[in-house]
Amino acid sequence: MTGAAPGPSTVSVGLVYPELLGTYGDRGNAVVLVDRLRWRGIPAELVEVHVREPLPEQLDLYVLGGGEDAAQLVALDELRPQAGHLRAALDRGAPVFSVCAGFQLLGSSISLVGRTEPVDGLGLYEGHTAPTGSRWVGEAVVATDLPGVGEVCGFENHGASTRLGAGEQPFGPVVLPAGEPRSDGVHRGRLIGTYLHGPVLVRNPALADHLLSLVVGDLGPVEDDLAVRLHDTRMAVARSGGLRQTDPGARRR
Ligand code: GLN
Repeated sequence: MTGAAPGPSTVSVGLVYPELLGTYGDRGNAVVLVDRLRWRGIPAELVEVHVREPLPEQLDLYVLGGGEDAAQLVALDELRPQAGHLRAALDRGAPVFSVCAGFQLLGSSISLVGRTEPVDGLGLYEGHTAPTGSRWVGEAVVATDLPGVGEVCGFENHGASTRLGAGEQPFGPVVLPAGEPRSDGVHRGRLIGTYLHGPVLVRNPALADHLLSLVVGDLGPVEDDLAVRLHDTRMAVARSGGLRQTDPGARRR
């Protein structure tokens, strides 16, 4: 299931806890992964994994989205005993793609706005998430070093930020908005985490195809003019500095 090896007959894309990690439309990431395979004639299915259901160990790709602090902590408690399933999935080459709260909970520890005591994360990468005192809200662009992907645009909305351990690589530096240098997310083998919503895989078809190629090998071309137009439009909005807002008064999202 790695590299250019023949893909499985039906590619299963797992959407983890959409009822808890679905506040920001990140479900669209899983939907577009399935769609982009089907558009190419590759059979694919969306597997929704709900709270209190066991997290399947054999899916081809796992997607976690963002959520409010309270929902995020429930998701973390439910996932903690099943962290080994995600670790095993990564070990056999299944990508795990995570956004914001979903990304935060995969790290070493988390403390959220209004909660001083950090709690253990799932420990899939070394990184500590803590409140920054202000809220990051708005369009952002991250420069990834993924071949054929490059700059990725999305919308961030978070009150906590993640400091990676010394051995970890970020998803990439934040190139927009310009300002104090900072990086976004994590990129560790087939684990990718980012703060970007959008949904980010809808806005950035090249990133979606990169993830899919890790599962099925080389992907043929596909008619996706609308997705490309969306990407170009949102990039232009980010470059024009549009829709930035800092909201230090906002709490608990
Ligand atoms: N609640 C977390 C934070 O504000 C994550 C928010 C999100 O997923 N957008 O940092």
